[in-house]
Amino acid sequence: MKPLIYDFSLEELQQWAKDNGEPAFRGGQIFDWLYVKRVNDFESMSNLSKTLRAKLTEQFSINALTEITKLESKDGTVKFLFGLHDDHAIETVIMKHNYGNSVCVTTQVGCRIGCTFCASTLGGLKRDLTAGEIVAQVVRSQQILDARGERVSSIVIMGTGEPFENYDATMRFLRLMIHEKGLNIGQRHITVSTSGIVPNIYKFAEEDTQINLAISIHAPNDALRSKLMPVNRRYPFDDVIESLRYYQAKTGRRISFEYALIGGVNDQPEHAKELAGVLKTMLCHVNLIPVNHVPERKYVRTSRNDIFEFQRILADQGVNVTIRREQGHDIAAACGQLRAKHMELG
Ligand code: SAH
Repeated sequence: MKPLIYDFSLEELQQWAKDNGEPAFRGGQIFDWLYVKRVNDFESMSNLSKTLRAKLTEQFSINALTEITKLESKDGTVKFLFGLHDDHAIETVIMKHNYGNSVCVTTQVGCRIGCTFCASTLGGLKRDLTAGEIVAQVVRSQQILDARGERVSSIVIMGTGEPFENYDATMRFLRLMIHEKGLNIGQRHITVSTSGIVPNIYKFAEEDTQINLAISIHAPNDALRSKLMPVNRRYPFDDVIESLRYYQAKTGRRISFEYALIGGVNDQPEHAKELAGVLKTMLCHVNLIPVNHVPERKYVRTSRNDIFEFQRILADQGVNVTIRREQGHDIAAACGQLRAKHMELG
């Protein structure tokens, strides 16, 4: 297997050029072809010599993703199922908002976290993606948007997988995305979401970035969180909160919390009060997500009234809270649904 060209940083491409008897700036030209001109083959890199192009073709691959399915929703959401070189399949979603387009990327094939409400974890973890395979999802999305004269304006790492269990690849991906000579995505427009892998929340606090951190909290206390998210037995609720306080003290950044409302399970007024008690001293924002139906699970949605009530209780305690707008309902765009269907058929 040839390494994927998107796995390499600008500096590494410059070094590669030097190792191949060329000036370092050739590395910069390659980077520009990949991220600014966004070509799909080395032959098109017309300011490089034929020999250098041949060497690139010989040593690297550039096609990470084969389109298996592309679904377009009436609301502008586009969902892809991509095949990888080893026949695994991953999902990527482009969401259209009034402020621009965001891309939701996948970091692992499957997931081993085991959240009881999530479709992505049903088949377990198959493997980590490389940084380049994550990068390729954004480059491909940008190529689609190029046709409409639009940009990827934000990225959310909220597809399948636990980014903080594939930490190095995720960080390498992030550094490539924010590179000013590349796609140059604004750091504040990128959000990485974790189920609460505590050691890597501490590690992330030490990274010198402005990238947003989101936490899938989904419960206001340890016991309930352990029921919904087995990962909470490894990294208990209080340890997660403590790591977030550290992160906040260190970076000064606002933290996002995701809370999927599951009817009768975690959506009662007492849950909202308990959650408010924990979060009201934190600089944070809570995103309430009406739980998406997963056929394998029995969970039901919270009624509209109860959602508003839950929101009101948090807001009354001074917690910043919104209800997530839903998109792509007509194309099964929620977490892992398309891949799950594909695995069933395949
Ligand atoms: N593993 C990371 C990244 C995934 S982000 C994490 O857990 O944060 C995807 C978000 O969607 C997470 O908050 C996840 O808990 C949530 N989610 C998963 N299944 C869902 C469902 N059926 N309904 C609503 N939200 C769900």
